[in-house]
Amino acid sequence: MFDSVTTVIFDLDGTLYCADTPVQNAAYTVNQLRKNGIQVLFLTNNSVKTRAQIRNKLQNLEIQCSIDEIFTSGYMAVLYSLYKELTDIYICGSDGLKEEFQNAGFTNTNSKNAKNLVIGYDPSFSYKELTNAFSIALKAQHIIACNKERYFPGENNKLFPGCAAMVAPIEYCSNRTADIVVGKPNPQMLKLICHKYNLKPNQLLMVGDTYESDILMAQNFGCYSAYFNTNPDKIKYPSDIYINELSQLCTYFHS
Ligand SMILES: [Mg+2]
Repeated sequence: MFDSVTTVIFDLDGTLYCADTPVQNAAYTVNQLRKNGIQVLFLTNNSVKTRAQIRNKLQNLEIQCSIDEIFTSGYMAVLYSLYKELTDIYICGSDGLKEEFQNAGFTNTNSKNAKNLVIGYDPSFSYKELTNAFSIALKAQHIIACNKERYFPGENNKLFPGCAAMVAPIEYCSNRTADIVVGKPNPQMLKLICHKYNLKPNQLLMVGDTYESDILMAQNFGCYSAYFNTNPDKIKYPSDIYINELSQLCTYFHS
């Protein structure tokens, strides 16, 4: 079925790990795919951590990778800002998101007079920060949301409010909608991957646990999808294949 696939892209939260606990057979599956000549990449809507922090976390879970193999919605916000040549940006988000921007040469990401606003997930989001972001949103030239995920799975699969918990109040109070959502299900990250590695959509297989971000992004882009879900009630959604255990992927790729 996946004869044309050369690259498997894994979602992270809920697919390879939940909080700090690896999903069963995560490292085994990544290594097995690589042994069979498949390129493995990592793609997350999580903007809290820098790509370097995510690489370290994956390494702690025995999954080796380089920063270049990791794509996050925070990094996409950086690339989008560079592409649009935005210089005057306020970051409403985590320290990791600010660091990702600083690594790309954005020096002042804290000015209350900024003309552009980037919103990412921030577990310490406060009324004070909402007030700052709201003031900028009222007059902003660009509002960039990392994603609008409603929730994500944490330790023991408990669900936590996602980036939408930061984006929605800013949008609602300022009566504006973010101009762009750079993360999933926007297929920009897959476009970037195809451009970077000179691939066609039918060479990609996206593996994820959330229909409305992972699978929908794959469908928006026209690449293959594998819906990873241990809950059979959820398989009403369309996907090329369904897996309830990660190593099932290996059966599709034999050298
Ligand atoms: Mg996920």
